[in-house]
Amino acid sequence: IAQIFSPLSWLGSSYRMILQSFTDMENLMDLLRTKSDVYDQPGAAELDLVDRKNPGHHILPSIEFNNVSFSYKTKTATVKILDGVSFRVEPGKSVALVGPTGAGKSTVFRLLCRFYDVDDGEVLVENQNIKNITQLSLRQAIGVVPQDTVLFNDTIAYNIGFGKREATDEELIDAARRAQILPFIESSPDGFLTLVGERGLRLSGGEKQRVAIARTLLKNPPILILDEATSALDSLTEKKIQQSLNEVSKGRTTLIIAHRLSTIIHCDEILVLKNGIIAERGTHNQLLSIQGEYANLWNQQLKSPDNIPQA
Ligand code: ATP
Repeated sequence: IAQIFSPLSWLGSSYRMILQSFTDMENLMDLLRTKSDVYDQPGAAELDLVDRKNPGHHILPSIEFNNVSFSYKTKTATVKILDGVSFRVEPGKSVALVGPTGAGKSTVFRLLCRFYDVDDGEVLVENQNIKNITQLSLRQAIGVVPQDTVLFNDTIAYNIGFGKREATDEELIDAARRAQILPFIESSPDGFLTLVGERGLRLSGGEKQRVAIARTLLKNPPILILDEATSALDSLTEKKIQQSLNEVSKGRTTLIIAHRLSTIIHCDEILVLKNGIIAERGTHNQLLSIQGEYANLWNQQLKSPDNIPQA
């Protein structure tokens, strides 16, 4: 029997190995696509988030951009995207970035993950310059819920468990529940073992995003970056997604790259990026009252029936 089954089990494990290397490659490709001539400093320290007052526990970090300037350098041009940008996200608080397309919102996120080094100024996580810490320890502390989630042609369990390989079944179920995708999974033909992707179940944009949220809940990082989808969602879907986004950002220091302003009304601070600088900053109500750039964006979105705010 062993002889009959061993080729199959070998196939199984090599299949998993190939899948694993694909997922690793995915990450690698992502990094390569966003360059990198970013290196760890010799003897770079790990990001230190140890809670000195409560040994064995971690603190929630602050994030700080101090006078950050950055240009993308291509063969033909150097284009300045950020010009002396400063802001601070207090531990456990949420800050949203808004602004016209191309303003540099995603660039802020790439600099925080250190896919690029800043030209001037500094990026600090819990008062540690990210240039001086290992990229691995930095990225382990950051969870990203991206605009478009890549799902693997594997089971729903695999796709969620990607956030934490050693997760138990209970942890998987709990993450799915908190991301509000458990009922969907339970109604799928084979539950958590339902295949997704080309030859299996096709998930909508909202369902994929909830898978990404479940992954992040499993990873449980102290820092969260939400890169909001540009596409308008219908009000009901948006409301549901908003609930799971609130759940995933709870107890984390959160940076939101926002396209639909209705989702950031309750953020602690909103930054309006324009022409390389922070043109306006404040809470939703403060920004509406100054009747500037943000108020314009808000009024434009109000005119669109798909963007009715859920305040
Ligand atoms: P959107 O709302 O459309 O997502 P954004 O505010 O996130 O835009 P970024 O993605 O940060 O904007 O891009 C800022 C500018 O930098 C854009 O003009 C973009 O074309 C340019 N840019 C982005 N990545 C690169 C790159 N790798 N090389 C050169 N230029 C780039």
